[in-house]
Amino acid sequence: MNKNKVYIETYGCQMNFADTELVMGILSNKGYQITKDIAEANVILLNTCSIRDNAEQRIYGRLGNLKVIKDDNPETVIGILGCMAERLRKELIEERKIVDLLVGPDEYRRLPEFINTAFAGEKGIGVKLSRTETYDDIIPFREDGLSAWISVMRGCDKFCTFCVVPFTRGRERSRSLNSVIDEIKRLSERGFKEVTLLGQNVNSYNDGGNDFADLLAASASVDSQIRIRFTTSHPQDLSDKLLYTIAEYPNICNYIHLPVQSGSNRILELMNRTYTIEHYLNLIDKARKIIPGVSFSTDIISGFPTETYEDHLQTLEVMQTVGYDGAYMFKYSPREGTKAYNMKDDVPDEVKTKRLNEIIDLQHKISYEINQKMIGTEEIILVEGPSKKSDAFLAGRTDTNKVTIFPKAENIHPGDYVKVKINRATSATLFGEYTGRVRSITTVESARSGRLKRTSTKSGRTLVSANTKS
Ligand code: SF4
Repeated sequence: MNKNKVYIETYGCQMNFADTELVMGILSNKGYQITKDIAEANVILLNTCSIRDNAEQRIYGRLGNLKVIKDDNPETVIGILGCMAERLRKELIEERKIVDLLVGPDEYRRLPEFINTAFAGEKGIGVKLSRTETYDDIIPFREDGLSAWISVMRGCDKFCTFCVVPFTRGRERSRSLNSVIDEIKRLSERGFKEVTLLGQNVNSYNDGGNDFADLLAASASVDSQIRIRFTTSHPQDLSDKLLYTIAEYPNICNYIHLPVQSGSNRILELMNRTYTIEHYLNLIDKARKIIPGVSFSTDIISGFPTETYEDHLQTLEVMQTVGYDGAYMFKYSPREGTKAYNMKDDVPDEVKTKRLNEIIDLQHKISYEINQKMIGTEEIILVEGPSKKSDAFLAGRTDTNKVTIFPKAENIHPGDYVKVKINRATSATLFGEYTGRVRSITTVESARSGRLKRTSTKSGRTLVSANTKS
């Protein structure tokens, strides 16, 4: 009888949260008990992120706190999972004496074995990167809920010069389409209402027979009442086929996270982003023609090496041109091992911060203006639960991923789709009044797609184009 109790803390991106569910699946299959109470655990795992220096500093701080537990009970196994395990194996094992276990993103299958090694007093170390591992036969340990994240591929081949991901998560490889569809079927049976397909660069998904548009269409076809989302996209791989597929299925959300990173072609080249701003803006225009009402969010880095004030102004200009609904905005953080690390980090920190604040202020202004224009519209909201601020209100999101708050209505519960008339908005939140229950998002949303025309191709696929008559 395996009496071990495992406690896991997760840091960083959605991929890491999905990996934690995977790890919990692997360990519970081996009889481990998953606990949310660190005091009762004899295995403590931190699933870490290395994307920026402050993410790593947080882990060092946490390891400092865990030393108390280790001192009290030296039998406790303390382990580091995720990207730091890959990037800082030497330092973590040799310098941070309290770490007993180090397992990178491609060796989770052997975690039970490494934990046993650590219990035996040796260091459990598994940091090999794989060209094939996708864990597609592992059923993640998932608590009941509404939203689920499914990793459909792992790794990245883009090698943006500022990014550690290709070094911490290895080369791109995709799960089989069938394994993803089986997982969505299980979630549909359990009453989940939203699925987000995950990948560092999800658009380059390919299982050898199916590309990402095929996977998206198959995912949307499992249960028409499940909203399908996906992240993160790379402009290089946003195909017409993918855009038409988003337009074709009412339950594929009208929301694309499309990192731009900088508005300057010179900086984009130094970042090895493989597109120009002109190419990027053409993509946005095309997407807006094919998917009316589609919303975009992005990632932006301020203060990349050699960035001038003019480069910065070009970034502000692109933000205004596109009009993003939201953005993840950070200042450049040099990462050892990346190509950019060898470039002189010559933008002073206070300048990076000043430019980042200008970017954040502009984005707030843009989000506010976009949300003001939604006052008077009626939105379809997937109810997620009571609002954080008051039980008298319910919270949910639009298919364009906007948080919406409205007064509680009778017999409306988490998982319901409802109509809400928007009457107020901030840069982050919409507020409104409940106007009715939505029986099926397919019928309502197809009103949106009424603006589109469907023609069948010889291969039997449905092609969608703008319906000029409407
Ligand atoms: S696309 Fe670029 S930024 Fe994104 S994970 Fe890959 S290397 Fe990193």
